[in-house]
Amino acid sequence: MGLIKKLPYYSEKIPGGAIVTTSLESVLHFAQAKSLWYLLFGTACCAIELMCTGASRYDFDRLGMIFRASPRQSDLIIAAGTITKKMAPRLRKLYDQMAEPRYVIAMGGCTIKGGPFYYDSYAVEKGIDHIVPVDIYIPGCPPRPESLMEGCLHLSEKIRRQKLSDWQEK
Ligand code: SF4
Repeated sequence: MGLIKKLPYYSEKIPGGAIVTTSLESVLHFAQAKSLWYLLFGTACCAIELMCTGASRYDFDRLGMIFRASPRQSDLIIAAGTITKKMAPRLRKLYDQMAEPRYVIAMGGCTIKGGPFYYDSYAVEKGIDHIVPVDIYIPGCPPRPESLMEGCLHLSEKIRRQKLSDWQEK
């Protein structure tokens, strides 16, 4: 209330005066949707596009997307690149170390379905969705930074629409 009283422009614009009502659920979802901290899981060429998205030209940070090096501080894993069978248990372990609610983006053909290694490789996982639950798939070889950003905005929207009861262990 005190803050709104100091902002006459906003108090005039709010119907019914200077009181804003909302639900705790909406505030929680809004906060998380607008500050998704991601764990970078870049294993191959798609990771170059992910790094490029975080650099100054595309400026991922303006969406509230901040890179963290620890799964304990991350809301989201962006898996970008070829996932080998040796790497798969590490991916699952990092996912398990993240706090709920947690999300996964599969970036690029390799993470989605094995990419160019689908037919001939004995060492590459043919899709990460049987290792961790995937929320957003971003196809491409590699996807452009614009595609990654659009995928993140879709995830943001998905988080804003979900209910607290959806926060169950996956
Ligand atoms: S999808 Fe293409 S660009 Fe991405 S890691 Fe696989 S081969 Fe590389």
